[in-house]
Amino acid sequence: MKNALRFSVIALSCGAVFSASASSTLFTNVDIFNGTKNKLYEDHYVLVENNLIKAISAKPIEAADALVINGEGKTLMPGLIEGHGHLLLNAGTLNDHENNRTIEELASRATVNANAVFQSGFTTWRDAGGLNTGLRKTIDSGMLEGPRLYTSGAFIGPTGSHADFSNLTTPNQHLNGPQTSMGRNNVSVNTDTVGEIKAAARQNFKQGNSQLKIMSSGGVASSFDPWQLNAMSAEEIGAAVEVADAYGSYVMSHAYSKKAILRNLDAGVKTIEHGFMFDGEINKKMKEKGAYITTNMTAFSPYLSQIEAINSNPASKRKAESATKAFKNYISNVKKYQPKWGFHTDCVGDVTSCIKQTDHTIYLAGKELGNFYTLKGMTSVNGEIVKLSGVMDPYPEGKLGVVEVGAYADLLVVDGNPLEDLSVLGANEKWFDAKERAPALDTIKVIMKDGKIYKNTL
Ligand SMILES: [Zn+2]
Repeated sequence: MKNALRFSVIALSCGAVFSASASSTLFTNVDIFNGTKNKLYEDHYVLVENNLIKAISAKPIEAADALVINGEGKTLMPGLIEGHGHLLLNAGTLNDHENNRTIEELASRATVNANAVFQSGFTTWRDAGGLNTGLRKTIDSGMLEGPRLYTSGAFIGPTGSHADFSNLTTPNQHLNGPQTSMGRNNVSVNTDTVGEIKAAARQNFKQGNSQLKIMSSGGVASSFDPWQLNAMSAEEIGAAVEVADAYGSYVMSHAYSKKAILRNLDAGVKTIEHGFMFDGEINKKMKEKGAYITTNMTAFSPYLSQIEAINSNPASKRKAESATKAFKNYISNVKKYQPKWGFHTDCVGDVTSCIKQTDHTIYLAGKELGNFYTLKGMTSVNGEIVKLSGVMDPYPEGKLGVVEVGAYADLLVVDGNPLEDLSVLGANEKWFDAKERAPALDTIKVIMKDGKIYKNTL
């Protein structure tokens, strides 16, 4: 009976009347960016009931008992979604995490990072390796304000790969071996056989992580691998995909070289991470396979060499220089082929440096790929990506990254039109030289997650 009352709807000529419960919020006088269309729907009404969007209308919605928020003509949009971040990797170099930081230090700093990104408007965060599910449980229980978390658990990759945080002198750490802190704490595991890959993948899902992250090619910030390395064979990538399939989820794969990217797509990997050698052939295969790409646009920043993980290591510096040359067609190819592209910051560092890096990434993406493409990447496309986790999705009730009836009520009200000006979301041309800012952005007036208001300065 209670439910019947709550959901009764009477359509009137002036709009719709909802007999709303006390846990309803009605936004009036907002221009909507819905996450998928390159336009604002002016002067609209949005009704949120419990944790989902119940109604969207150009006509007034009357909802008895609902809390009314007058949007004053500002923009209502989906909460932002980070497509590839690392909340637990909050020290300096990869080696620094292994050698100088206890898990206690990394975990407590991760809570600070989670709260800061949330205040910056990120209501969902896909963590691309290192973080397990403890932080998610803490946030979801209400003890800490932070984003929804889609975690990958331990990075999976072979000895000497981009997943290898150990020292030159560390014995092979194999799986959750006791030799390294990163291995012990399921941050990163070295897997050199198909059996070890499957065991690591199963361990990650056992922990409740929602997708797998593999390191199938070399990287720039890591110590032992040329970026050109095709680190995992087709058989090894296939082993990770097989376990992900068994859990109804998917694999995200760090892949730089064209060979590695194509190998991943052939094996059934659903999201290519970085993917700097993206071109027409890759685009065609991505379309065939229903795959996505997410890229850290800071790779194209004039300030890239100032990043600590790169400039503290001469080998990484040299790698960055040669990689920049090899990746020179990325931007023109993405503009030409318009793949399903997710926004991705990939910050490794403390809260201050990661706020700066995110702001600069938003700026670069907008400048190089356009504001609408960037915004789609930060909302609806990343919303589709996190939902690839299927059966392992920790938030299965609604869509994310869109303003649609039935979607989760993860919403921002921002002062300005982000399609015209990304600085309302923090975009900043400067990176390391940017002025330090508080995590909370004045231009974000309302932050709602799961139907609950966390900020309202209207
Ligand atoms: Zn990453």
